[in-house]
Amino acid sequence: VIRLFVSDDLKADAPIVPTRAQAHFLLGVMRLGVGDEVRLFNGRDGEWRARVVEASKRDCQLLAEARARRQTSGPDLDLLVALVKRARLETIVEKAAELGARRVRPLITERTNADRTNIARLAAIATEGAEQTGRMDVPEILEPQDLGGLLAAWSGERRLMFCDEGGEGAPVIQALGGAAGGAWAILIGPEGGFSAAERARIRAVPGALPVSLGPRILRADTAAIAAMALWQSVLGDWRPSEERGS
Ligand code: SAM
Repeated sequence: VIRLFVSDDLKADAPIVPTRAQAHFLLGVMRLGVGDEVRLFNGRDGEWRARVVEASKRDCQLLAEARARRQTSGPDLDLLVALVKRARLETIVEKAAELGARRVRPLITERTNADRTNIARLAAIATEGAEQTGRMDVPEILEPQDLGGLLAAWSGERRLMFCDEGGEGAPVIQALGGAAGGAWAILIGPEGGFSAAERARIRAVPGALPVSLGPRILRADTAAIAAMALWQSVLGDWRPSEERGS
């Protein structure tokens, strides 16, 4: 069943007018018509069963019928990733949606070769990823921030899993095994890695946990995917539900 993220409140008999792009997808690409079912979610009201009730060449109207799944949220996991090349960053955002990151914060570091990115495009990728993966919210794409500013403001309430290709990090499963769940962030550096000064500053923040992702240097997208998968396995929602309360 097709899932669409909408901004409207969702309740019984609520009329929902999809965006022009969503209408094109429903009518033109998926060839839906009046009476066909879709699922809607907005990150607040759970997932609702809805039906196409009006369809013209380019627009349609949906009617929310009943809630099919209650609202849930994944772990409080941020992905902090240096601004890498556009295609790789788009892959990272799509995988962050699938792997359950709640927020993605692009970072400007000494060796990033950009200081801006197309946030709207990344948000659209995050939305499509969330629709496909069946999650009940969409990862928030935050404005790029300078690494120094981020570290200076780091409070320590949120643990920082620092993916350190410098080799001094502990093996990730061992490092996470002794940690508690809760609010975490994963930090991934740029193609050129972190400088020695950056590495020292990162290690100095309260709650920093330097980890190794093995003996080989991974590309930033590979590292982000591996790090999120490992974190979800040890501390996140890939654990059996009875363990997650811990
Ligand atoms: N410094 C490397 C170089 O110049 O080729 C590349 C850095 S790597 C492409 C980008 C980021 O992925 C690193 O800053 C780190 O956060 C993460 N990373 C890659 N391989 C890693 C590993 N084996 N252990 C921990 N983190 C790794």
